[in-house]
Amino acid sequence: MIVRHKFVELMPDIIEDGVLYISLDYGTVIHNCACGCGSEVNTPLSPTGWKMIYNGEVVTLKPSVGNWSYDCKSHYWITDGKIEWAATWNDDKIKKIRIVEEDEREMFYKNKNPILVDIEVNKKENSKEKLTKNKWWLWRVFCGD
Ligand SMILES: [Zn+2]
Repeated sequence: MIVRHKFVELMPDIIEDGVLYISLDYGTVIHNCACGCGSEVNTPLSPTGWKMIYNGEVVTLKPSVGNWSYDCKSHYWITDGKIEWAATWNDDKIKKIRIVEEDEREMFYKNKNPILVDIEVNKKENSKEKLTKNKWWLWRVFCGD
């Protein structure tokens, strides 16, 4: 499946299927979920989030797009302007990655008080070891291919 791309200043009201709308001003990429369910997928570009590679012809987005907050739960890569489907993630995997994401968010917003965060994470995860394991797993998912 081919995806085209459009560089835009502002996101248009109507997002066409099969088009990546890239706003460098806002540092974000928006497209309709590749499964055709009509959900709008926003992938903000950041040092810790998605990265966009434009080679002059086609666009690659990294890491993969995992739409587990939508009913379709579709998961795919956008590589060289093409959709590459990943195996559907089961609920357990989705749950695990969500725990890690929430922790990372908490860390980010509470980094003025790292000791407090540490205690809270420990309480939630029961042990530090488990969190480290989850993080390692996340790294594998995002960077391990
Ligand atoms: Zn979908």
